[in-house]
Amino acid sequence: MQKRIQPYAVYSDGQGNIFEDTQLFAAGRSGQNFYPLYLDEMIPLPEGSDLFELPGRHTLGYNRNGDLVASPDGFASAAFIAPANTQLSIAAWQNSPDAPVLPLYAYTAVGWYKGKFYVPAVRIDSDTRQDCEHFNQKVIIKRGKEILKKFPDNRLVRHIIENCAFVYYCPAARNFAMDRWEAPVPTSPTCNARCVGCISKQDSKESPVPETQHRLTIVPTVDEIVQFTVPHLENAPNAIISFGQGCEGEPLMQWELLRDSIKAIRAKTDKGIINLNTNGSKPDAVDKLFDAGLDSIRVSMNSAQEKWYNLYIRPVDFTQADSMESLKIARKHGKWASINYFVMPGLTDTPQELDALRALIGSTRLNMIQWRNFNIDPDWLFSRIEYAGYGENCLGVQQVMKRIKEEFPHVYFGYFNPNKDTMAENMVNY
Ligand code: SF4
Repeated sequence: MQKRIQPYAVYSDGQGNIFEDTQLFAAGRSGQNFYPLYLDEMIPLPEGSDLFELPGRHTLGYNRNGDLVASPDGFASAAFIAPANTQLSIAAWQNSPDAPVLPLYAYTAVGWYKGKFYVPAVRIDSDTRQDCEHFNQKVIIKRGKEILKKFPDNRLVRHIIENCAFVYYCPAARNFAMDRWEAPVPTSPTCNARCVGCISKQDSKESPVPETQHRLTIVPTVDEIVQFTVPHLENAPNAIISFGQGCEGEPLMQWELLRDSIKAIRAKTDKGIINLNTNGSKPDAVDKLFDAGLDSIRVSMNSAQEKWYNLYIRPVDFTQADSMESLKIARKHGKWASINYFVMPGLTDTPQELDALRALIGSTRLNMIQWRNFNIDPDWLFSRIEYAGYGENCLGVQQVMKRIKEEFPHVYFGYFNPNKDTMAENMVNY
């Protein structure tokens, strides 16, 4: 029996340098449950990932006796892994009493072995649309300025290019600047949910973390939307336009605008995919959007269990049942339905969550699970939703994926909204 290899734990020296601690082997965690990491469950740190130093925290790792101990050196470190890769374990750290809440990123475990960083993760989507090798910011700025000249009076194009592509480095906005793949169409300054980890709205009275993207302040017109989306659908390879972006509230708050825009777009072109990223709160409106020509929908879900869904999403005027109804309506129209499933080891991989996810798939007949990393400080999340960090009999995220695939082989796994070809190859009407 070959001995399983354990990578070393790592720590930051406080000067932006990360070192391996050769006295400790790397640890991972699911909720409050800690365990050793082994190389055969890890991948090299994907290109385009970031490595973080975690203030007020010490690295936890396993010494030669197999005891879980805190590293005396520096600060804990974690990886913010590149898109298309799903985390399997959170980083293991020990909080100091004055440890600040961490900003809205994912904090995946990381280890070091023979000159390389490794992370417990899987490449869940082969699509390379957000791989960093595609993004040369100098070229993006040049192309972005050309687009601003092409649409001088278009407020939405200005927001997408000047804010999203040039400041937030949003991959979708930068792909729009490069005239390829998925382009963003934000439309709504308001929302009918109060997600704890909303990246576009954090109430400074109750939240210790900043929003990562300031929310859109305009409501575009049908003409402003049609003006740039039709050329994108006509000319871009594997073209998709997506309503519902990180820099806005809930697009269904503007459903009439979306309906009229979709009709106007489809009157000019039948190319590409028109997608809606949403909290799914208004199934009746969703029905009318599919009548208008919508092609696919993606509904956000931090948990398939109503209790954790309500404590995180904090819906104002809707329920999780409404969000699931929106998925069913997409299937009723024979269209593609995905969930934007926030993966948090310790919550996502419990037996209860697996059962609830199986029930959700069975009742909605959804086509795809987008296994997305939950961008939030796990300790802050667990405290905000009063979650005891279940952990001890966690199944492991990979095991959950395996069980779902065994029971629902037709459910497509990925990270991104599928283009027309991917849908055609994987659409199973069941
Ligand atoms: S649904 Fe989206 S915009 Fe609304 S609070 Fe949640 S994350 Fe924010």
